[in-house]
Amino acid sequence: MKAYEKNIRKADPYVPGEQPRHRAVKLNTNENPYPPAPGVRRALEQMETDRLRLYPDPEASELTEALAEYYGVGRDQVFVGVGSDDVLSMCFLTFFNSKKPILFPDITYSFYKVWAELYRIPYECCRLDEDFCMVKEDYYRENGGVIFPNPNAPTGIYENLAFVEDILSHNRDVIVIVDEAYIDFAGESAIKLLENYENLIVVQTFSKARSMAGMRIGYAIASPALIGYLNDVKYSFNSYTMNQTSLVCGVEAVKDRKYFEQTVRKIVDTREWAKERFRELGFVCLDSGANFIFVTHPEQDAKELFEALKEAGIYVRYWGSRRIEQYLRVTVGTREEMEKLFQFLRNKIRD
Ligand SMILES: *Cc1c(COP(=O)(O)O)cnc(C)c1O
Repeated sequence: MKAYEKNIRKADPYVPGEQPRHRAVKLNTNENPYPPAPGVRRALEQMETDRLRLYPDPEASELTEALAEYYGVGRDQVFVGVGSDDVLSMCFLTFFNSKKPILFPDITYSFYKVWAELYRIPYECCRLDEDFCMVKEDYYRENGGVIFPNPNAPTGIYENLAFVEDILSHNRDVIVIVDEAYIDFAGESAIKLLENYENLIVVQTFSKARSMAGMRIGYAIASPALIGYLNDVKYSFNSYTMNQTSLVCGVEAVKDRKYFEQTVRKIVDTREWAKERFRELGFVCLDSGANFIFVTHPEQDAKELFEALKEAGIYVRYWGSRRIEQYLRVTVGTREEMEKLFQFLRNKIRD
């Protein structure tokens, strides 16, 4: 080992889902199968490339204002970043700064553990119960902060606002982050609880329900004081995180509430239809409130199925980690994509 090696910060990175180069039925990274709002395309076509000479607005004011208006909060309550991964990692750096461990579920978005280790934040994981649900009492103990997704990933299970509020009411002295990447497919957002809990941060993204994973836009909504702390850290890191193109396209996406609601509706309808098809084939599906379904089959090995699907050009997600080694996570695509999946599964299972 070279002497300098010992001073290098080693990281155990997050492993993103595969982005195949060839055409595939891509049901592995929870992208939206529908295009972004029509206004986004128009904005891109009309973009003045001369604007790219200049730095973008470091405050991302137009996007922040559009989001503030959409959610009925103050513009000083919104923080935008390069996807919610950027927003979440800034939140970890800013708010999880205690010697006490932060808490998150043992089966959840695997990036939480990666950031905790990167920033050397102590953490403890709370076990999901036998139905893969969070146990709220696990979050009553002393801690340095709490983070969980709602709906949870990769289970898809949505907990109602009373559940979220119960965790908040037992954690008034630390920051509680609710990662709502999939909330639009599920139910009520915790944004409503901000009035009563100034230690709450709600994080959302344009990547799933708004069909813009390629643009990289995420945001946090919280009290003006917490957004202030977040901005201070961001400006100590990189002032120009949001590029000009995403700022312009982001505003267009937020403006089109009708298109957004229609797209979400289609995905939710396809999800419910797909759950029935899975069950007809003997799969057990968790009750997903997200744009993906977590499934297992009592007679089919998940890893083998994953590989056979991939061979057929159908990509789903498989982890093989403890307790979920017999599960596959399947993103809800278009009805046509799902038909292809079920066609394959019918042949495979009836063989
Ligand atoms: C997809 C996802 C994110 C990150 O999305 P971005 O594309 O970075 O906005 C964050 N949290 C969860 C739980 C997700 O599934």
